[in-house]
Amino acid sequence: MSTSTTEEDNNDNDISTTCANCSKEGSDVDNINISDISNKTVNGWSASVDLRLLNIKDDKAAAGNICANCDKGEECIDSLKTCSKCNMAKYCNRECQLAHWPQHKKDCKKRAAELHDEKLFKQPPSEDCPICMQTLPSLQSGSRFKLCCGKMICSGCIHANKEMQLKKMKHLDLCPFCRAPTPQGVKNTFEATKKQADAGHAAAINAMGGYYQRGEHGLPQDNDKALELYRQAAELGDATSHYNIGKAYMLGEGVEISMKRATHYWELAAIRGIREARHNLGVNEMRAGNRNRAIKHFMIAARGGSHFSLLHILSMYRRGGATQEEYVKALQMYKEYLNEIKSDQRDEAAAFSDEFKYYEVPNDIKNILGVVNIGEEPRPMRDISIFSLLQPQP
Ligand SMILES: [Zn+2]
Ligand SMILES: [Zn+2]
Ligand SMILES: [Zn+2]
Ligand SMILES: [Zn+2]
Repeated sequence: MSTSTTEEDNNDNDISTTCANCSKEGSDVDNINISDISNKTVNGWSASVDLRLLNIKDDKAAAGNICANCDKGEECIDSLKTCSKCNMAKYCNRECQLAHWPQHKKDCKKRAAELHDEKLFKQPPSEDCPICMQTLPSLQSGSRFKLCCGKMICSGCIHANKEMQLKKMKHLDLCPFCRAPTPQGVKNTFEATKKQADAGHAAAINAMGGYYQRGEHGLPQDNDKALELYRQAAELGDATSHYNIGKAYMLGEGVEISMKRATHYWELAAIRGIREARHNLGVNEMRAGNRNRAIKHFMIAARGGSHFSLLHILSMYRRGGATQEEYVKALQMYKEYLNEIKSDQRDEAAAFSDEFKYYEVPNDIKNILGVVNIGEEPRPMRDISIFSLLQPQP
């Protein structure tokens, strides 16, 4: 490590001639020798100046200009390797990384946790219905997955398409997106799903996992097989299967119970927009006493349409566990979501049948939200015990 400041160091750190204590310009700063730093003051200059000079090396390492272990590397900046955990410290080689680890460990873990949270606490992007181009509702009955074209279609477009075909006296049930005939009946639907799964379609593979898990369609109940299929679908990028793997770890279905692993998979699902996973993460944080993290999860889930999460924040507010600002913000988030998904066509579908219900407004907050429900009396509010985990979705 160099023992005196060089002009280059000073220029890089922009502290060449200004006192960090009084902000006066002074050429004496250039002459301070770091070997004198152990003294509280150097020629009357306060120690704060010295500390900043000492930090030059660390700043450079943090900026990725030099090897964090041996100082080399400014001349060969492109060949420095970055620590994959924190994405911050750089090293000339593996030996330097290993040598520096005891010193780096604490900062590395802190930064890695920050990076993880930055990713986790982002509002996931919403998906649009490919026909009406409006945000897809996140309530299960608010959309249908079409195996034929692999598209998620909103309840409004599904219903409007059926009505149109009825008017034309056509008895074929054609997909509103790709016009392929929709398989009719449970058996045909299962056969079509199996065919798509065999062809490597992620959502169909996930659905097959569900059939094995519940022992449906003549398949034996088989947790191991279900988990194998979920993992396969997850690898192909299916978000729901991450949720299902987490659920298996929570219940110990085909694996040893592990809430740590359940959380890991729910995080993967939540980042990809599965609101049930997000809600469950909030519940876990609440149980662990991490109120702020719980609120963050509930807030994101409420923005993604989870009325359960909204109700949790309401319950917390009533018990003094959340502030009024937080409660109002959660309401705003949920209302923003409703504004984004509401449409006349979807309202018509929901009025036609509960099968097309696309959002839920809990009784408790109906008046506050000022939202008129869809053509029918709302169902009685479900009995939601506070901090209950959402029941796993099929
Ligand atoms: Zn090195
Ligand atoms: Zn690191
Ligand atoms: Zn649509
Ligand atoms: Zn289709």
